[in-house]
Amino acid sequence: MAKEVLDCSFCGRKKPETNLLIAGINAHICDKCIEQAHGIVLEELKSQGPVKGAADLVLKRPKEIRSFLDQYVIGQDQTKKVMSVAVYNHYKRLMQPAQTDEVEIEKSNIVMVGQTGTGKTLVAKTIARMLDVPLAIVDATVLTEAGYVGEDVESILTRLLQAADYDLTKAERGIVFIDEIDKIARKSDNPSITRDVSGEGVQQALLKLLEGTVVNVPPKGGRKHPDQKFVEVNTKDILFIAGGAFDGVERIISKRLNRQAVGYSTSKSSDSIDKDNLLQYIIPKDIKDFGLIPEIIGRLPVLTHMDPLDKETLRAILTEPKNALIKQYQKLFAMDDVTFTITDEALDYIVEKALEYKLGARGLRSLCEAILTDAMYDLPGSDEKTLTIDQDYAKDSLGKNLLKRLEIAS
Ligand code: ADP
Repeated sequence: MAKEVLDCSFCGRKKPETNLLIAGINAHICDKCIEQAHGIVLEELKSQGPVKGAADLVLKRPKEIRSFLDQYVIGQDQTKKVMSVAVYNHYKRLMQPAQTDEVEIEKSNIVMVGQTGTGKTLVAKTIARMLDVPLAIVDATVLTEAGYVGEDVESILTRLLQAADYDLTKAERGIVFIDEIDKIARKSDNPSITRDVSGEGVQQALLKLLEGTVVNVPPKGGRKHPDQKFVEVNTKDILFIAGGAFDGVERIISKRLNRQAVGYSTSKSSDSIDKDNLLQYIIPKDIKDFGLIPEIIGRLPVLTHMDPLDKETLRAILTEPKNALIKQYQKLFAMDDVTFTITDEALDYIVEKALEYKLGARGLRSLCEAILTDAMYDLPGSDEKTLTIDQDYAKDSLGKNLLKRLEIAS
């Protein structure tokens, strides 16, 4: 008797005509039908609309958000608290049934002011990770008004779509982190008569996105693909977080505080002001005086600051976060069966150098790399199964490598 040729129970294709035929209890299905069925499932889910999307968002309470942030971000207490509340309210707003009563909860977009390398991006990334929503990180300096050289503001949404794997529902409740927002400040204080292409124009263009609008977005970005179809993205439920160093804003704050101290004897007297961390006194008016237009500030109602990183914070960044640098090196060495330890003195030394050369938290990584490169080169495959870095070792290897170059540079 001829051997029975199996076929797909859905489309009838014979096994040789398929790439794969999977057996069920009383039936078979081929790879093509699986693909088609998958497409149907996706379509079906999409047509059930955003309500479904919002439902599978697990809303965490502010304290839970805060403790998640604590695992990754050291210090920055005020920002953590403010962000936890803003993010909680934002996603609560997303979950409210449409049009139940007149009270409409407005968006709580956020602006974070702080020196570079103090953890602004890290906070945004950690929140997106916790909520499992797509995150697009964009640099405001590359944005220009439509029609000028540079990227259109819409490109922000292209990035978000990409981060969401082109799942529109997901993208529409994602997070956009706009870095260096201070760089699109108006250059001079008086509203200029001539057009300010790089600054105010971009702020105006951004305003629409922040407000919530439907934007035609080229899914592949740019003007390189003129034939591509646009995707309509509604920005109403996208959370925007802006960050910037606002270099020089301290002067504005300090001036204001001095004026206040003179004007009202009962207000904060000038000697109770912590002059090393003026950012903690920032108010929306200061960023307006810096050059952001009032409409933008109005659309970024939550304002928070990042504290500068002091010795203790830098030290903690090395060892405490869930994916702290030292933990990462321990893992790397463990893959070669090497037990890696580093003494407290060596850690203090690294922090000292980071402060001395004003390298900030980002510098910790380059310092560690410079100290450990030789060991990471020599140890794999050798008989040495332990590595202990003490202060002398750190000094020696840094002297050989990075410090020389830093000294030349400074
Ligand atoms: P910013 O966006 O403010 O310029 P980043 O978030 O990019 O700074 O920080 C740079 C790196 O420094 C991060 O990847 C992180 O490893 C480290 N870092 C900075 N601040 C902190 C912090 N407060 N806690 C933990 N790590 C930090």
